[in-house]
Amino acid sequence: MTEVEEKIEKKPVEKAEKPEKAEKVERTERVEREERPSKKFRKPAKKKVCAFCVAGEKTIDYKDVAKIKKYITENGKILPRRQTGICSYHQRELANAIKRARNMALLPYIGE
Ligand SMILES: [Zn+2]
Repeated sequence: MTEVEEKIEKKPVEKAEKPEKAEKVERTERVEREERPSKKFRKPAKKKVCAFCVAGEKTIDYKDVAKIKKYITENGKILPRRQTGICSYHQRELANAIKRARNMALLPYIGE
């Protein structure tokens, strides 16, 4: 076993003994981060269905602020497709609708 490997193994033992000291606490956090469960144990993502396809809407009205507002962040940013679960066609339409709504001052460009 090399020296480096020995050091890595000793770290968790040290932090378990005295977590009161500030220096030790800092190390504890680092070790906890390393021990975080790996991605392979994550639950499989639930399959999302495009809300606009389900509703049978082909176009998205920029004046329908109540509907569009769900797809922007607090800061006014457009949510990515991986978060909205919308199909690529409707995501593009939605992005256009949001941009039009911004231009008409129905939605903010930045913040609330
Ligand atoms: Zn769709």
